[in-house]
Amino acid sequence: MTIRPAHQQHPRQFAQFRYVYPVLSRRSHGLSIGLNTNPDRVCNFDCLYCQVDRSAPPPVTPFDLAAAERELRAMLQMDFTRLPQFTGIPAEQLRLHDIALSGDAEPTTVREFSPIIDMIARVKPPGVKIVLITDAGGLDRPDVKRGLQIMDAHDGEVWAKLDAGTANYYRLINRSKIPFAKILKNITGCAEERPVVIQSLFLKIRGGGPSPAEITAYCDRLREISNIKLVQVCTIARQPMTVVDGIPAWKFITALSDAEVDAIRARVSREAGLPAESFYGTAPTPAS
Ligand code: SF4
Repeated sequence: MTIRPAHQQHPRQFAQFRYVYPVLSRRSHGLSIGLNTNPDRVCNFDCLYCQVDRSAPPPVTPFDLAAAERELRAMLQMDFTRLPQFTGIPAEQLRLHDIALSGDAEPTTVREFSPIIDMIARVKPPGVKIVLITDAGGLDRPDVKRGLQIMDAHDGEVWAKLDAGTANYYRLINRSKIPFAKILKNITGCAEERPVVIQSLFLKIRGGGPSPAEITAYCDRLREISNIKLVQVCTIARQPMTVVDGIPAWKFITALSDAEVDAIRARVSREAGLPAESFYGTAPTPAS
């Protein structure tokens, strides 16, 4: 049996829990408790690299806030060093860094977004961050804006997805009906209120990565957003579950090499003048 590194395993199902799951997160530099706000798996994006398996019916619907709170309180009582999936990992790496709204789809689509944030703010230990991992599609919703204000007062951080510099590449990668201009406007508006982290994933499609011109446009978009505290340049680290025209995406998309990730990160630093980190992938060989 192949044992994958902890960062390549992000199961969103843990023991008897329906909504919360612990993960060792490279991007958090520690342990993160994921809160799956979208067990219905309905997303406003359809990213080529999505790891959510939508082939089977969703297990739970709709989101149950009271049950999620009970689960979060129970998980916060756990000794993570005793969990089998973290065997051999030093205790200092298992320090709880954040509670992240993430999971099987886009958290800003959830109707009770601000009550969820309010619940996490009440329950979490002091100093533990609330991280919103978002495709930015719903950042302009009034209830989401209310939730963001609660986050601002409770160690909140927004990690907004931006995988393209042009509308054409955005349509190719993220395959959403939401216009690219609206995504950019939402990220810009959010960043006017608070610093944001930009999370960008680049990959190869049938062996070809983003063009140099696409990365130029991407750096231009970054420069247009006023208040970016960090850019995370990533590539795929886990197998995508998306199916395109009947073909599983893992047959034709692959990770960038470490050097290619670093080259984009260097361009972000140089051309957009922003701090950036690289997150490498697995560079799997596409199946023939
Ligand atoms: S990667 Fe995230 S935003 Fe993209 S389709 Fe999957 S759940 Fe939605």
